[in-house]
Amino acid sequence: MNTSHSQETPTGEAPGHVPLRLASATQTLPPSATLSMNEAVAKRRAAGRETIHLGFGEAAFPLHPLLKTALAEAATHTSYAPVLGIPALRQAIAAYLARKRGLTCSADHIAVGPGSKPLLYALLHILEGDVLLPVPSWVSYAPMARLAGRRVIGVQTEPHDHHRLTPQALAQAMTRARKDGANPRILLVNTPSNPTGSMFDRADVEALACWAREAEVTLISDEIYAELAHGWREHISPARFYPEGCIFTGGLSKAFSAGGWRLGYAVLPPTMAGKEVMQALRALASEIWSTTATPLQEAALAAFTPHATIEQYVHRSALVHGYVAGQLYTALTRLGVPCPRPAGGFYLYPDFSPWRSALQERGIRTSQELAHYLLEEWDIAALPGSVFDEEPTALRLRFSTSLLCEPDRATSVDEREAALWSLLDQAETLQLTGKKRRLSLPALERAQARLTEMIQELDRPGTSHVQ
Ligand code: PMP
Ligand code: GLU
Repeated sequence: MNTSHSQETPTGEAPGHVPLRLASATQTLPPSATLSMNEAVAKRRAAGRETIHLGFGEAAFPLHPLLKTALAEAATHTSYAPVLGIPALRQAIAAYLARKRGLTCSADHIAVGPGSKPLLYALLHILEGDVLLPVPSWVSYAPMARLAGRRVIGVQTEPHDHHRLTPQALAQAMTRARKDGANPRILLVNTPSNPTGSMFDRADVEALACWAREAEVTLISDEIYAELAHGWREHISPARFYPEGCIFTGGLSKAFSAGGWRLGYAVLPPTMAGKEVMQALRALASEIWSTTATPLQEAALAAFTPHATIEQYVHRSALVHGYVAGQLYTALTRLGVPCPRPAGGFYLYPDFSPWRSALQERGIRTSQELAHYLLEEWDIAALPGSVFDEEPTALRLRFSTSLLCEPDRATSVDEREAALWSLLDQAETLQLTGKKRRLSLPALERAQARLTEMIQELDRPGTSHVQ
């Protein structure tokens, strides 16, 4: 008789026998701070706790009707598509990049994937070398690089210089890394930036591209927010200056408000080496995700095919994101909070170090503690600078402004969408930070009021906020 059942623990495991063991790389891997915060806010709200949600960057305008119809019509495409994407979509993306962004590439150099995030992860596996990352940079890059077995080398940027990435800082990081026995061969940048909201200007992009070429470093440029430039600074891809060494990525998540569709692309250099990377990417993708969901690829064709109302939708989304980020930026600067001026996307990166001693009096010394204080005492969800690889004691937070467009009183999906469409309809009449026309955005107004109250509280010596 098999007696093993009688020796099982209440959880079904035999004593001393652990059937599931974690690999060392995942034993201490926490879930991404962005997605965790979004889930935590949903739980707080479900428990009836009001929360001003500045903790998650999601473009949440209603889906464009042409994309909605295209997806419905594509539902019957149930077969696997080619690993690198359906040819018509790759061609449409190439034409879109030429038309909208002035970037020349052919369909052969484009890989479609289930979001740009897995494509970035795959590229970090495929390419040789350790990874240079600006500090601060997006939460997922360093974990992805480490999971791919790479060392991460932080390149320091200065808050008083709007976190610009300079060739001097890159050269210093390179020297330091080589001394430590690392072999940096990849530089990963993000413009517009998550978390800072800044965008490289032309001179900076050119200097960066030149440095990468001279240092023989592959430049990966994450351009997921490129279409959401606010209008006062042109978005320029480093691929313009370093076409043979630059890989750039993009997708539907931000400009088309379709993060949940999980569709992104990577553009590889038009060289023999680029072709080899594409072959490796195809091989890796074929072993992991096989293909990007076929109906979504079919539907994504609508996004990248010329259509005046879709182009207007993207343009207006950028203007509204710019307006909201600009309004909160203005409020913060009026309160004396140093913050880089947002140029694209929907993030702000305020620095609360002027209140270091007031915060210390409240037991707050790190950005993690500061984020906790904002959430627990002021019901404001934000991410600490430490999750963007900053020193723990740098008192910076990332505010995402994308969810401040959410209407307050919508009682149905239709009402919510109508309110957001009405915002998009007013987009062209807005000014970034000026007085021309104001939108009534209750969530934005609440965020401004709450932050004002918080700063006033910190300015009063010896007080601590009581709920
Ligand atoms: N890069 C950055 C900087 C992001 O903020 C995001 C947001 N999700 C992504 C990449 C991932 O985009 P995707 O949805 O295409 O995977
Ligand atoms: N990009 C978003 C953010 O930084 C969230 C989505 C994600 O992390 O994949 O908040």
